Amino acid sequence: DCCSVAEEARAELDSVEAELEVLELQISELLEKQASLTSRKNKLLKILDGSCDSSQPSGSGKASKPAFNFPWSKGVQEKMENVFKLSKFRPLQRAAINLSMSGKDLFLVMPTGRGKSLCYQLPAVCSKGFTLVIAPLVSLMEDQLMYLRSIDVPAVTLNASSSKDQSKYVMAGMTDKNSPFKLLYVTPEKIAKSKLLMSKLEKAYNMGLLERIAVDEVHCCSQWGHDFRPDYKLLGILKRQFPKVPLVGLTATATSSVLKDCQKILCVPDPVTLTAPFNRPNLYYEVRVKDNEGSTKEIAGLIKGRYKDQSGIVYVFSQKDAEVVSGDLQQKGIMAQPYHANMEPSDKTLVHHQWSSKKIQVVVATVAFGMGIDKADVRFVIHHTISKSIENYYQESGRAGRDDSPADCIVFYGFADIFRISTMVVMENTGQQKLQNMVAYCQNVDRCRRAMMAVHFDEVWDDEECNQMCDVCRHDYVTMDITKHAREVVNLVELAGSLDEKMTPLKVCDTWMGKGNAKLRKMITVTILSRQEVESIIVHLLLHGYFREDFSFTPYTTYFYLKVGRKAPLLKNESHCVTMKMKRRVPTPSSERQSGAALIKAAVASKSKKH
Ligand code: ADP
Ligand code: MG
Ligand code: ZN
Repeated sequence: DCCSVAEEARAELDSVEAELEVLELQISELLEKQASLTSRKNKLLKILDGSCDSSQPSGSGKASKPAFNFPWSKGVQEKMENVFKLSKFRPLQRAAINLSMSGKDLFLVMPTGRGKSLCYQLPAVCSKGFTLVIAPLVSLMEDQLMYLRSIDVPAVTLNASSSKDQSKYVMAGMTDKNSPFKLLYVTPEKIAKSKLLMSKLEKAYNMGLLERIAVDEVHCCSQWGHDFRPDYKLLGILKRQFPKVPLVGLTATATSSVLKDCQKILCVPDPVTLTAPFNRPNLYYEVRVKDNEGSTKEIAGLIKGRYKDQSGIVYVFSQKDAEVVSGDLQQKGIMAQPYHANMEPSDKTLVHHQWSSKKIQVVVATVAFGMGIDKADVRFVIHHTISKSIENYYQESGRAGRDDSPADCIVFYGFADIFRISTMVVMENTGQQKLQNMVAYCQNVDRCRRAMMAVHFDEVWDDEECNQMCDVCRHDYVTMDITKHAREVVNLVELAGSLDEKMTPLKVCDTWMGKGNAKLRKMITVTILSRQEVESIIVHLLLHGYFREDFSFTPYTTYFYLKVGRKAPLLKNESHCVTMKMKRRVPTPSSERQSGAALIKAAVASKSKKH
């Protein structure tokens, strides 16, 4: 009969769950092994990077000596000091240059602003022929050319707006034995479309003048990356035609699977991948819970207090938020301006300029504010709304503290924002997973924030290294048994489902707290928990599979509903237990203390009932 079928299914579900847990263990063992191999690799690379970078006495003005003497070492050192006017290498630069000079193909992953360009510009200056650089945007090329001209390095470009004369000069120069320029910047379209360019490159290759190929923003090759450009897909022709020319691919953001894809597309047989340590030791990471009013008051307090007279960015979700929040901050006497994609270019430039020159203190911006920020003394990056992924968060918050002085990265984590973003990214393949990771980062009070990020950059992380520079490492947390609460709220959603009632997360909160639908209220157990606790438990259950998301589309908007998830049946099992870490309460506002106490009491009660 159907009862025993259900019984069997339940029993099997338990065993499948158990098996899944074993698998997860095995996966974590493999990850550990991967971590230890990666750490070994990094040690080897450190050796190649030269060990005396940090031992150089500060202020002596003397450059550090390379650890090894390659035939090119002296020249590299000389050009670095006299042409680029730099006194020492940053991490991985020397290793990258040595590997490239020795003819290896290379992928270099390094956050924006850490100096990737030097890794092909310096070898270019030290070589006889020229280096071909592929870059996606004409504006980026122009910036580079301006810089190179200012230090007297001959460099040229070929793009859609090049004049006839200029093209002629460049084409001729490519096969000139005296190489009138050291770097040639082209767009990928040029490679794809200009047969003349390819034929000149071939000639230069045969004459031994094509020394190196650099592909900037190399993640644009991959459709898995975040900025795919179809013309990058055709760049494989370069390695196929010119196999002996070393290639270096550069990017600030690429996971290992994106890099593997790029390697295949570019036809690079056996590259070395160098990844700069993702850690920014001077950044303090903190998550705060967003209150019902949207926390603008708290943000204003920080800006006027802790960050008085210091520059910063407040990132918001939408154009409207940018305008509203900056208006609120202005009203509280803060020099703030909004910034978003739909502004006139001249207004954008103005805001950028006023901020750089400290005429305004804060830019309240959507993620459109990013490219080309070169302000080093940004002391705080506050997220008024969570980012859509950890990678995005790392990148956005990473605009703080480029001068290596301490800076803060604070994200305000709001319950309703999760579902706003969730419906926004509903069309993206991995959108939900990435968002869940970001939510897990915010919800987490268990692991060092840096450890949470490290996972996304394939890095081994030793919590000690955080140095108390995140709120989790600085504070104290306790584990709570929330099984009883989980049963209550899952039952509620199940019941609503059986009544054909669609439940948004907000409605689940309200109903569970005894507000809203009277019919439902009579059938459920109303909770004694505070709103904040209710929200964080619901998110916890969503992240752990007791709930799942269910989207519904109308022509105008997308709705997010909660449904019971694959793990929900486990709650029917008497011995099943759900725990969650929570911040130990600071005994201040009495209402908060009340509910905190209620939670602890409930947790203790449910524990003692079990025994
Ligand atoms: P990326 O391409 O990685 O975003 P860039 O190559 O544009 O970064 O370099 C960013 C800035 O860092 C430039 O102003 C550059 O001159 C500077 N820079 C690069 N290498 C060094 C170094 N070894 N020491 C000091 N400044 C450096
Ligand atoms: Mg760059
Ligand atoms: Zn930490």
